[in-house]
Amino acid sequence: MYDTIIIGAGPAGLSAARILQHSQKVLIIDEYFHPGGRLLGQLYEEEKGSWWNGLKMADELYEDTKEKTEIKLSTSVYNVEFDETYTVYTTNGNFKSEHLIIATGAREKSTPLPGWDLPGVMTVGAAQVLTNFSRVKPGDKGVIVGVNPLSMVIGLELGYADIEVAKICLPQENLINSDTPREALNTLMSLGKSAPSKPLSLAAGIAETARPFHSTAVKLFPKNGVKAMGMPISIKEKIIRINGTEKVESVTVQKTDAAGTLIADTDRVIDCDFVCLSDGLAPLNEIASLLDLKHIYSEALGGYVPLHSEKMQTELPNLYVAGNITGIENAKIAIFQGELAAHQILNNEALSLNTLTKINNERKHAKVKFHKDLDDGKKMVQNFWSKLGKNPSQ
Ligand SMILES: Cc1cc2nc3c(=O)[nH]c(=O)nc-3n(C[C@H](O)[C@H](O)[C@H](O)COP(=O)(O)OP(=O)(O)OC[C@H]3O[C@@H](n4cnc5c(N)ncnc54)[C@H](O)[C@@H]3O)c2cc1C
Repeated sequence: MYDTIIIGAGPAGLSAARILQHSQKVLIIDEYFHPGGRLLGQLYEEEKGSWWNGLKMADELYEDTKEKTEIKLSTSVYNVEFDETYTVYTTNGNFKSEHLIIATGAREKSTPLPGWDLPGVMTVGAAQVLTNFSRVKPGDKGVIVGVNPLSMVIGLELGYADIEVAKICLPQENLINSDTPREALNTLMSLGKSAPSKPLSLAAGIAETARPFHSTAVKLFPKNGVKAMGMPISIKEKIIRINGTEKVESVTVQKTDAAGTLIADTDRVIDCDFVCLSDGLAPLNEIASLLDLKHIYSEALGGYVPLHSEKMQTELPNLYVAGNITGIENAKIAIFQGELAAHQILNNEALSLNTLTKINNERKHAKVKFHKDLDDGKKMVQNFWSKLGKNPSQ
């Protein structure tokens, strides 16, 4: 019997273990063979000369926890039950605990397109891990389908590894993909000062320049896109097909008008040897759903999140959530949220409040933001929490 089991050895899970391990018997479980979660692929310049190196951060968190915390890697959790205590069912045995933290992170959403089943098509996250963690080039010249903060951050990271990004643009509209040039422009504008690097600020700046024109802003955006430090970003071209026989050889793009409607006879072929799909991130909430927790849908948080207090408590006793399962945010926030869950388990109110302040500060100044309306999403969850009769500050 453990005091606390943590599902997920990403930044949220590891940072919770780092605190709890001094006074508790802690087990942390992760299905990947290496601890660190999505930190493993992250590498970008935050300020001039200051780099966010996720792999280094993951190794530091692991160093701090491996002595005192039991860590089971390559182990998937497939069921959880609550009956006064928690029973966690895994591919490597079943375990019981008094407290449970679910820190399973996020999943990538991908965009169906003709040709997306060809070898060489992958999500942006796969390209990120291949490049920055496995040190394997996904190819020499890639095209990224999807204009969002993640696709642009990873486009930059590919550039650092000397991999050419031939185009970043929207997918063709169908039942599932409905992004318009206006939404893509809004994304660029919302990056604003929060853009994690100079080139993204530049792209955001170009979009910002168009802001005064409001209704004509999309029309003014150059048809062939803008080039920001080697990244050709285009909001008025759509990928209509990925081409190849044995593997990816090229994509076909077509120009659109400001409303996103394809313009006939404007298609052209761009050679490439890999394609990255990026349709954003969604909280990975399957395990929380198994416990029948209420979930709230918020576009700004990335999808369905388990109902929780701002101090990471859920409706069930001794059950906490932390990290991207509570909404898509950056790794620094995930670290603080893991710490907050741990302080709550240890009933340390002073440290909880202090950590809450750190979370709010980081939210204000975050270099990587995934949705401009994140604060509204967070408020909505807290409103539902208080309607349940729970004190929002719990
Ligand atoms: C593809 C991708 C790229 C990202 N890139 C960036 C970026 O560049 N910058 C940035 O700030 N943020 C990025 N993020 C957001 C990122 O998720 C956060 O920065 C941070 O890693 C979230 O931490 P976490 O601990 O909540 O989850 P994660 O880091 O995702 O860790 C969750 C862990 O839970 C494990 N897990 C999940 N389900 C189970 C299960 N059933 N059984 C066992 N283990 C399980 C996973 O294997 C994973 O190791 C990215 C997210 C994704 C998905």
